[in-house]
Amino acid sequence: MYHGVTRKPPAKPDEDDDDASPDTPRKERVLHTRVPAVLEEELKRFAKNLRVPVSNVVRAILEDALKMADRATGSVEDRLNDAVAVVRSERETIQSKLKRLDPLDDVLAFQPLVVALPTECTACQGSLRRGESGWLGMTTDPSRRVIVCGACLPKPDPDPTHTEKEPTP
Ligand SMILES: [Zn+2]
Repeated sequence: MYHGVTRKPPAKPDEDDDDASPDTPRKERVLHTRVPAVLEEELKRFAKNLRVPVSNVVRAILEDALKMADRATGSVEDRLNDAVAVVRSERETIQSKLKRLDPLDDVLAFQPLVVALPTECTACQGSLRRGESGWLGMTTDPSRRVIVCGACLPKPDPDPTHTEKEPTP
């Protein structure tokens, strides 16, 4: 079989997988897999708590588990057990990873604005027309533009311990 082997992955025995050639652009694929019932339960509970899709959780965990598996050789079962362990013990890591998937999570504040150039809401992708009210999300990354519609603007936190209110203009 002819493989264009100009560069080899570092000393790792190639499992007979369907890995794309190194030149193809990175694509996302859908994986279907069987998981132990205990893992499924844990995943669903975890996803429900965070109010994110289970698939996001699985993806975040897989990335972590693969990193771990890279370090320690082990069977598939070990890796699944690792994944369970990750869910149970590394909630914070996964939580912060998942937060990065939320487009509004690194927003420090929202500032009202009037839309001049038609755009779309960063959160719901709804269209924002010229003249409409929007809210600019200020993040730590100035290269990132976040504008949300009124529906996606966070509602006041009902938690009484969070009473620091921003002065209304
Ligand atoms: Zn929106």
